[in-house]
Amino acid sequence: MTAPTDPVRDRALSLPAQSLPAYLYDLGALREHAASVRSALPERVELYYAAKANPEPEILAALGPYVDGYEVSSGGELAHVAKAVPGRPLAFGGPGKAPAEIAAALDLGVERFHVESAYELRMLAELASRRASDAPVGVLLRFNLPLADGSLEASALSMGGRPTPFGLDPTQADDAVRLLTDGTCPHLELLGIHAHLASGLRAPQQLAAAESIVTWAASLAARHGIDLREVNVGGGMTVDYTDPDARFDWAAYGAGLARLTAAHPGLTLRIEPGRALTAYCGWYATEVLDVKPSHGEEFAVVRGGTHHLRTPATKGHDQPCTVLPVNDWPHPWPRSTAQQELVTLAGQLCTPKDVLARRVPAAGLRAGDRVVFSLAGAYAWNISHHDFLMHPRPGFHFLCP
Ligand SMILES: *Cc1c(COP(=O)(O)O)cnc(C)c1O
Repeated sequence: MTAPTDPVRDRALSLPAQSLPAYLYDLGALREHAASVRSALPERVELYYAAKANPEPEILAALGPYVDGYEVSSGGELAHVAKAVPGRPLAFGGPGKAPAEIAAALDLGVERFHVESAYELRMLAELASRRASDAPVGVLLRFNLPLADGSLEASALSMGGRPTPFGLDPTQADDAVRLLTDGTCPHLELLGIHAHLASGLRAPQQLAAAESIVTWAASLAARHGIDLREVNVGGGMTVDYTDPDARFDWAAYGAGLARLTAAHPGLTLRIEPGRALTAYCGWYATEVLDVKPSHGEEFAVVRGGTHHLRTPATKGHDQPCTVLPVNDWPHPWPRSTAQQELVTLAGQLCTPKDVLARRVPAAGLRAGDRVVFSLAGAYAWNISHHDFLMHPRPGFHFLCP
């Protein structure tokens, strides 16, 4: 949604200027969205939340009733998520797991390891064998699979189907499965296959990817005469920043996954979205500090910038936003006011890259007006370079707890 929800709008207008910028999270909106995602998914499809999209403890907790577990991608996320939502199932993924991180995950009793390489598999086997417990450690082998239909080229960010540091190469599949099934690694249990191939896919492309991952995994399992119990088809459901009201088609995706599970009795599918779960629940609220002309265009400089909300700079889009006019003007000097229809919203950093949204329709925008940027609930604050220029950090408000 481009427009802020009522609680977000009220808070964005009631905070004193010196308390801006602020991240405003509407936990009620988050719960509603997560419930609708959950209800679109059929039986035998588990939903894990990829914590790296937004690991704020309040967000992790609010998602609790709607998710089956959480995917963590580092020792830091592991410790953080285990503390924020104690006792919930965790899957530990990510390339370059250090021995100490794996040992910590084993100590915590993490249910699933997404193993990213043959080397990591041997390391995990050795560390798992040194535990006191005899319970086997669950393993999903992550593969970098090619997808025939070209859907990866259409995605914003692809991790698979081309040379990348993610997952095992498909040519290593038979050796890896043998290692896990021939008694070499008695402390590990092969639960299934994982593949997270791209981000930014729409429902038809996501379904095509899921189908080809499951087909590939089923034939691998058949070759080795083993049961295929779990396939994790990853996250990457698109969030369209150019059309913020168009959401990923969860109903179509869920219906497609239902056909897939029907074709594979006994298989549990798992998805692990990040962005498409939390992007919509966050707003970055700020105020206009100045408005000025520059070479025929007009710029507004807002409090804060891409050191707090780096998403538009990294993804190359204009962050959707709403202007909230403020009529009170407490200063003795005149307000600067936009003279044109279109205004580019920039931050306070001394770099031309610090632009949040270009050529926004904002006729009459004045210093002191407030601006609320939407779709700021995922890959926003936590991917930003906070310390550059040493401006104060934003406030954080969790509304509708
Ligand atoms: C980042 C990531 C996700 C989540 O991706 P989104 O695009 O946020 O849905 C899921 N799985 C893995 C392995 C990831 O690295």
